[in-house]
Amino acid sequence: MKSQFTTVSKILKNYDLCEYCTGRIISKIVGKQSSKFLGKKYLKKLGKSDHKTCYICKNIFGSLELVLSNIFEKSSHFDFKTFHLGITLKPSFLERDDYLKSKFKIKGIENIKFGIAKELAKKISRRTNSKRITDDPDLFIQANFKDESCILRAKPMFVYGRYNKKIRKLPQKQGLCRSCNGIGCHNCDFKGIENLQSIEGKISNLFIKKFDCNQVKINWIGGEDQSSLVLGKGRPFFAKILNPKRRNRILRKTSDLEGVYLSELQKLSIQPKGSIPFKSKVSITIDTKKPISSTQLKKLKILENAEIQDFSRDKRNTKKRIYKVGYKKLGKTSFILDLFADGGISIKSLIQPSDVVPNVSELLDNQCECKKFDFKNIVV
Ligand SMILES: [Zn+2]
Ligand SMILES: [Zn+2]
Repeated sequence: MKSQFTTVSKILKNYDLCEYCTGRIISKIVGKQSSKFLGKKYLKKLGKSDHKTCYICKNIFGSLELVLSNIFEKSSHFDFKTFHLGITLKPSFLERDDYLKSKFKIKGIENIKFGIAKELAKKISRRTNSKRITDDPDLFIQANFKDESCILRAKPMFVYGRYNKKIRKLPQKQGLCRSCNGIGCHNCDFKGIENLQSIEGKISNLFIKKFDCNQVKINWIGGEDQSSLVLGKGRPFFAKILNPKRRNRILRKTSDLEGVYLSELQKLSIQPKGSIPFKSKVSITIDTKKPISSTQLKKLKILENAEIQDFSRDKRNTKKRIYKVGYKKLGKTSFILDLFADGGISIKSLIQPSDVVPNVSELLDNQCECKKFDFKNIVV
């Protein structure tokens, strides 16, 4: 007991420390939890004033207000229940802390950075009614004590939905902004995409407004041609919402985006993993070079349960299959082909001369052209 007190008094006689740093530095020696009150108690015992400049932290605990007010101002724009805090400090703080610890052989106590973060987090928690956690927080706060600034970043969100496309001449994907190639710049209003109409653009804009986020990245379950319709229950997609400020906003199940109709919309708590297998029901309108007869069309029955091989692609591609085939003659040189098949088969390559086997042009010995194809349904 006596030797403990001697060590504490030796430290405090040689160095001016604030209540916080005193509490932290002596905590292990006196076998108590590090706290401001512990520091205060011992400073009083030794008749030390707490008005002097702290050797380690230069009284940084008394001037947390500026950083805090920056954090409060910025975080007021975010919905969050949990946060994690990172701190940037001048190296000299840690150097002085380490020096003092090694001089008095103090081990196993939290360092000055940890001490400041703890105090700062306590105040943020209290004021914003949130909890500090390290694993998967809603908001990450990086406070920089070199210039009193802070950077806030929200955890991404994920949304699942399906879309129906009721108009032609609308591409699925938005081109990348030509000025910044997708990074985000003034020309594209930091969205990274071209200012053109597309399904991606329409969905992105909806979520950007809804969740007040910077950017939306969409993972499509298959794709279609710009002139194709998507009917039935629609094509599924997953959207990643980057840095959403308003993550708590209510998302209605459906949304009508003029020509594109969204359904089954829901927020997901975790990121969907990998690619999702799916099947599509597609109706293809085909023109032939030579006249075609109903008898000739019967050859298309071979396609039922056929495995599709694409020799232009990597061999590691998973095997794709056609399950059901239907056809109907439209005119002298045109017919409709209905397929129910695995997703990801290139429709045009299946119809027109290509490296895909089997191939409709080859099968009919008649050069076919894919005029349009519409998705009647997509099944996951
Ligand atoms: Zn201090
Ligand atoms: Zn740009």
